[in-house]
Amino acid sequence: MKKWNLVIDVAKCNDCNNCFLACKDEFVENDYLPYSAAQPRHGQRWMNIMRKERGQYPKVDVAYLPIPCMHCDDAPCIKAAKDGAVYKMGNGIVIIDPEKAKGQRSIVDACPYGAIWWNDEKAVPQKCTFCIHLLEEGWKEPRCVQACPTGALSVIHAEDREMAKVIKSDELEVYQPKYKTKVHVYYKNLYRYTKCFIAGAVALQDTDECAEGAQVTLSKGRKKVIDRVATNNYGDFKIDNLKEKSGRYSLEIAYPSYTKHKMDINLKTSMNLGTIFL
Ligand code: SF4
Ligand code: SF4
Repeated sequence: MKKWNLVIDVAKCNDCNNCFLACKDEFVENDYLPYSAAQPRHGQRWMNIMRKERGQYPKVDVAYLPIPCMHCDDAPCIKAAKDGAVYKMGNGIVIIDPEKAKGQRSIVDACPYGAIWWNDEKAVPQKCTFCIHLLEEGWKEPRCVQACPTGALSVIHAEDREMAKVIKSDELEVYQPKYKTKVHVYYKNLYRYTKCFIAGAVALQDTDECAEGAQVTLSKGRKKVIDRVATNNYGDFKIDNLKEKSGRYSLEIAYPSYTKHKMDINLKTSMNLGTIFL
């Protein structure tokens, strides 16, 4: 059977919040029983956009990470619920039954992604339903996907086998794989949020000019080259997708007719090396 999957491209998300607002527009003051009770006007973010700033001035960037319910196959919220109050549909979508889940606050704490919200007034846990009520009417995507102006959100309705091929070919990743919950939400360019970079600029001491085209090589240990980039016309370089707190690296900068510059780096988080003169 085909299942619903959501793909989120972190590099395309600009934090416009259209997805969040479309979700509010759809669910605030609207019941879609038996799938969802109305979302309160304040206090819930079924599409929760996290923000992360990396680096130091002037080499700084910001990434946004939209986090909805991951519609896990192995969902801790289902295990925590009593009386089958949370269940998985054959199409992959996880639903909290608003009647059966009444008073079950422990369901909120069961989600490791923080995707469930407590409705104080109705005493019910709530979350993203993938707009199942619309899909059942023939919609091809939920409201958040329809509202996203940058193409950061897309839907893949496919059997698990087909989806596995897409995951491989498009190099999709899951957020927090350590939870092992077998999610149906995948990310592209997740490194923009979860990894770090080394950036800097290269200039020539004698002419005081930017060194365009200098070769910057990052290595681990004696021989293992991690990445090699060329500086741009401002002499700037950036090596991204590095694991935080991943220890010692060596950086070598080569430019024709100049002595190679070598330095050791202890990488903890994104860092700006400033201007390096050859
Ligand atoms: S992301 Fe959280 S709420 Fe959604 S299915 Fe998984 S455990 Fe349940
Ligand atoms: S609508 Fe798209 S670009 Fe805007 S915040 Fe949501 S995911 Fe990001």
